[in-house]
Amino acid sequence: MKKIGVLTSGGDAPGMNAAIRAVVRKAIYHNLEVYGIKNGFQGLMEGNIEQMDLGSVGDIIQRGGTILFSARSEEFKTEEGQMRGIEQLKKFGIEGLIVIGGDGSFRGAQKLTEKGFPCIGVPGTIDNDISGTDFTIGFDTSLNTIIEAVDKVRDTATSHERTYIIEVMGRDAGDLALWAGLAGGAESILIPEKKEDFEEIVDRLKRGHDRGKKHSIILLAEGVGSGFDFGERIQETTQLETRVTVLGYIQRGGSPTATDRVLASRLGAKAVELLMDNEGGKMVGIQNNNLVSYPFDEIFAQSHTINEEMYNLSKELSI
Ligand code: ATP
Repeated sequence: MKKIGVLTSGGDAPGMNAAIRAVVRKAIYHNLEVYGIKNGFQGLMEGNIEQMDLGSVGDIIQRGGTILFSARSEEFKTEEGQMRGIEQLKKFGIEGLIVIGGDGSFRGAQKLTEKGFPCIGVPGTIDNDISGTDFTIGFDTSLNTIIEAVDKVRDTATSHERTYIIEVMGRDAGDLALWAGLAGGAESILIPEKKEDFEEIVDRLKRGHDRGKKHSIILLAEGVGSGFDFGERIQETTQLETRVTVLGYIQRGGSPTATDRVLASRLGAKAVELLMDNEGGKMVGIQNNNLVSYPFDEIFAQSHTINEEMYNLSKELSI
């Protein structure tokens, strides 16, 4: 293999730039030419492709977002769209593609691989919702952003006797809420994977109040429902003053943490190695601090699960 391409797709995540940098530098180190494709699969179909050099990824390891931009494309889900993409890759003489994104992006990568064009996926999403890897690029940064916010809410909370509900991202996966809840000392954690008993949440709040607790913090993943609706219900039932904070897009931004930069560098470089070994149709991941790779089919066949031990611990600690 002499020429490879790289793109970012789906929702952006902090650390994607560090992954792009690793792909470009590792490829050049091994005498490959590397091409950056802008705007994800949309840009691929449109031929928005440029050769990258060592300098094009200078000074980006610390930057959030993605210098290659990201996009969502309905057209790419069609056969015609995928063929348009392959034509562009062929026009530039590109022989393998690295796709940095979430599982939707890997479905696109899988389609290209099935059509004879080898792709390797690098998991980049703040949700940590991809099976086959312990962590995705961006999760740690997002988690730290949430924790900073939780700590700040706590500061003001000590001055008032209130219940605080903090809504975080996670439509289908509760990892951000679970980890932030545990790290932030939340009373309750509401995630899509687990059905919580409302009465139990209320009892816990009341118990805390009765023993003189100044404030309570509840972490809620957006997939469970609206934080505002939940807050209203809590206030009506407990008669305790309740405030709701929806963190929104700040969770996606910011400079990646050291952990995310290291993860992105390792996964990006590993993806290049797989292409050099003529592999395709696989995602690289990390398990027990070892780099691994699995066929996309296996990734799609499993569903992401939360860490039960952590979930149970969060309950024990918020007694
Ligand atoms: P995140 O969940 O973090 O936002 P994602 O990669 O899962 O990231 P999606 O919007 O699901 O984000 O997918 C990104 C893009 O991948 C889509 O806009 C589309 O172009 C392509 N894609 C998704 N599913 C398919 C599919 N089944 N076939 C071909 N391409 C697909």
